[in-house]
Amino acid sequence: MKARPTKYIFVTGGVASSLGKGLTTASIGAVLESRGLRVTVCKIDPYLNVDPGTMSPFQHGEVFVTEDGAETDLDLGHYERFLSTTMLRKNNFTAGQVYDRVIRNERRGDYLGGTVQVIPHVTDEIKRRILEAGEGCDICMGEVGGTVGDIEGLPFLEAIRQFRADVGRENVLYIHLTLLPFINAAGEVKTKPTQHSVKELTSLGIQPDIIILRSDRAVDRKVREKIALFCNVDIDSVIMAQDVKNIYDLPVIFHEEGLDSRICEKLNIWTGAPNLSSWQSVCDIIKAPARGLVTVAMVGKYVDLRESYKSLNEALMHGGAANECGVNIAYIDSEAIEEHGISEQLKAADAILVPGGFGKRGSEGKISAIRYARENKVPFLGICLGLQMAVVEFARSQLGLKDAASSEFVPETADPVIDLMAEQRGVADMGATMRLGAYPCRIKSGTLVERVYGAEMISERHRHRWEVNNVYRDRLEERGLVLAGTSPDGFLVEIVELPEHPWFVGVQFHPEFQSRPLKPHPLFVGFIGAALNARDERCASGASSSAPKKYKPGAICEASSERCG
Ligand code: GLN
Repeated sequence: MKARPTKYIFVTGGVASSLGKGLTTASIGAVLESRGLRVTVCKIDPYLNVDPGTMSPFQHGEVFVTEDGAETDLDLGHYERFLSTTMLRKNNFTAGQVYDRVIRNERRGDYLGGTVQVIPHVTDEIKRRILEAGEGCDICMGEVGGTVGDIEGLPFLEAIRQFRADVGRENVLYIHLTLLPFINAAGEVKTKPTQHSVKELTSLGIQPDIIILRSDRAVDRKVREKIALFCNVDIDSVIMAQDVKNIYDLPVIFHEEGLDSRICEKLNIWTGAPNLSSWQSVCDIIKAPARGLVTVAMVGKYVDLRESYKSLNEALMHGGAANECGVNIAYIDSEAIEEHGISEQLKAADAILVPGGFGKRGSEGKISAIRYARENKVPFLGICLGLQMAVVEFARSQLGLKDAASSEFVPETADPVIDLMAEQRGVADMGATMRLGAYPCRIKSGTLVERVYGAEMISERHRHRWEVNNVYRDRLEERGLVLAGTSPDGFLVEIVELPEHPWFVGVQFHPEFQSRPLKPHPLFVGFIGAALNARDERCASGASSSAPKKYKPGAICEASSERCG
């Protein structure tokens, strides 16, 4: 039997950036997947960087790491959270990578001395990559980064225009996402920016089939009629996407708007009705968590703390939903701990988390927070740098090595309990040279993490250079630090835990990259479970709880201390 052809849905953005194109793409993918289709996504970034891993997290938010070790745009994290497909290196490419390849081909003589041009050489390379990403799937969504009208986006729009002719009109759909701004003085939303943006797109040869409108308020049918008329789409293909409090509501909302039916009609796809019941139940819990709230203190460099921990914030929320509770994240600046000591806000938290990070600044504050968690039996999760700082703290407090440090921060230290492995020494190239991607880990039997994972072998994603120094392993173990997970050959420490503590775990990898709302990561389920226990014990003893009365998912909790009950 002939395989069904892959259908392609391209999502472009207009009017403004930051409209949530990634989330929109991921949510459309989720509804289509709930109809039984195999969906994948390809993020096409028109910027010139060859290696998104070296881009500043301040400009770009989190670097998401794929199973096969690519450092990619954070939108790939959205795709994995909304879909069951695992994203790989091929699911994200930049203009820089495309040009790099074309120039290397030219240097090798592949073009036989012909003139190398944007059309066809660059556009062909773009199309080749899209085809590669879509292989074996029913639907491949292509999200084009940037906004229509950007100079650097032109070759990409030209490539997706040509794509329809290449693979057949019936196999390609264009969705354009724009903004309906509300103008206070006029007291109404305006459609003109959308009209202009669609005009720009059609001048490039792309007539959108569906227009999705972002707006902060509900709009009446007249607005949609106007857009349908001026932008040459049918009224049923003008879809509203009003702001939502909880991003996981989006697949259900799009379905209620009829978006998936429209897509299936236009692409001539026959599927059953979508089954969105598991999405619905996660959303219900997030909206009204039966077991209330816990507060997790996230201790890091203040400036890093928000967008650069996207996956981590989400994973905490998934862990909360699995425990039927909401999670408030109190972002705590580790440099402030260095200056002022352990704050009331940190003391009021139900659990403490030290996330991954780079750079010495604030590291002593992280170590103090970890000492506080260890000594006061506050549930603790250390991720990557968090594990490394936990080992430093343990070596200083329990092994009496007062100069213990990571050689990343104190190269000349007498006791580099965290150090570089031989193969990482002398690496000069900063791009893609860390331990990256999925590695197996063997879990020691009888440990807390064995109960948490319910497995002996696990696979987790990495992004770091430094490791626990094997020279100190025996001494750490003698003093009670359990090396609960190692590489299968036993050479690299992957997980540490403290048996004399209710829940103290450090992991060298990044579990947050594998957590999904429909498949919450066991470490976050366990960690939030421990935070709930800590909160309940604290309430039973009459102490104050940090949980604020009103819960906003993902909200930033400033210091608040209220009585329980
Ligand atoms: N800076 C540390 C290293 O490179 C930790 C990295 C991280 O937390 N992702 O090993």
